[in-house]
Amino acid sequence: MTHDRNRPSSLSPATVAVSAGRPPRQQGGPVNPPVVFSSTYVNQGVSAPGELLYTRMDTETWHPFEEALAALEGGEHGVVFGSGMAAVVAAVGHVPAGGAVVVPRHAYQVSLGYLDDLAKRQGVEVRRVDVADTAQVVAALDGAHVVLAESPTNPMLEVADLPAILAAARERGVRSVVDNTFATPLGQQPLALGADVVVHSVTKYLAGHSDVVLGAVVTDDPQLAADVRAYRTMHGAIPGPMEVWLALRGLRTLHLRVERANANAAELARRLAEHPAVAEVRHPSLPADPGHERAARLMHGFGAILGVRPHGGAAAADAVVAAVRLWVPATSLGGVESTLERRRRFATESVTVPEDLLRLSAGVEDVEDLWADLDQALRAV
Ligand SMILES: *Cc1c(COP(=O)(O)O)cnc(C)c1O
Repeated sequence: MTHDRNRPSSLSPATVAVSAGRPPRQQGGPVNPPVVFSSTYVNQGVSAPGELLYTRMDTETWHPFEEALAALEGGEHGVVFGSGMAAVVAAVGHVPAGGAVVVPRHAYQVSLGYLDDLAKRQGVEVRRVDVADTAQVVAALDGAHVVLAESPTNPMLEVADLPAILAAARERGVRSVVDNTFATPLGQQPLALGADVVVHSVTKYLAGHSDVVLGAVVTDDPQLAADVRAYRTMHGAIPGPMEVWLALRGLRTLHLRVERANANAAELARRLAEHPAVAEVRHPSLPADPGHERAARLMHGFGAILGVRPHGGAAAADAVVAAVRLWVPATSLGGVESTLERRRRFATESVTVPEDLLRLSAGVEDVEDLWADLDQALRAV
C-alpha cells in the first residue's frame, strides 16, 4: 500500500502526528491503516523489488508508523524494531572489534550494559563522558567509531550541546546516534541538528500508554537504513503488527500528551523546589538547573522527567515511593500515567547517580491531584 506522502512540508508537528501515515484517500476507504496478521505472502516465482514475501523481512502494518515517525523526526527512513534496545543495538552494533564508542556516563543503563558487554567480548573501548561537558565529549571523539548521545540524559537530565557535538563527530567521521526517547521529536529533531541516526524507545512517549514495548531507528542515509533493516531481518528483532498499530494510535496524540506532561512537570518542579522535605530537584525548566540555558536555547519545552532527592537519603526516597497513592511506583516512563522510582535500587544503575534520586515521569493527569499526592507522600516521610 502506498501512503499519502503529498503533504506540504510546512505542516506543524501536531498536524504531522495526526495526519502522517494515513491510507490514500478513496471513496469508501478506511481512515486508519488496517492491521494485517499474516506471516507470509502469496508469492509465485520471483518477487519484484518491494513486493512483500515474509513478515520477518517486511510487512505493511509497519509502514504507516515508520512513515509517521520519520516525518516527525524530519528524516527519510523510519525502521521499527521489537524494542528500543533492538534499535540501539542495530544503530551502534557495527562498531568493529577493538573500536571505540563514546557514551554519556548517565545514558540508559541497558545501553551502557550492552556496550560493557561489547567491551568484554570484543575489546571495544567504551569512553564514558559527562555529556554536558562539550570539550570532554569532543576530545573523546578522536579515533572513535560511534557516539551514542542522550539529551536530556536518563536519569540525571544533563543537557548536551548537541549541535556542537554532532558537528565535531561529523568532522571526524564518527557515526552519531542520538537516543531521542526523552526529548521526543517535538522537543528536538537530532537529524536537523546534524545526527546520522535517531533511535527511540517507542515504548515511552511515542506509544505513550505503557501497553507496548517497541523501538525505532530514523535516518536520512539510505545505506544505513538498508543496514539496520538487514540487521532486523537477520536478528529477528521485529515487532508484532498489533503493537505497531497501537503505537501509531498512540502517536496521534503525542503533541497533546507531551504538552500536558511537560506543563505538569514544570509546575511540579517549581513547587517541589520549595518543598521542605526536598533537598534537590533536577529539571531543565528550573532557572537554577545546570541544563536550563542550554535546554531553553536548543529544545522546545523541557521534557516531563524530573529528578527529586528528598531529605533523609535512600530510605526516605523508598518511603516516598511506598506512600504515593495516585503516582504509580513502576519503572519506565512516558505513559499517560505518572510514575516514579528510585533508580539506584537497580544494581546496574551508574554509581554516579545519587542513591536517593527519585526519577519522576509526569503524566497527563490534573496537576493539582499529582501535587496533592506527592505532597502527602513527602510529608508522611
Ligand atoms: C527505555 C529506554 C530504552 C530502551 O527501550 P526499550 O523499549 O525498553 O527496549 C532506551 N533508551 C532510553 C532513553 C530509554 O528510556
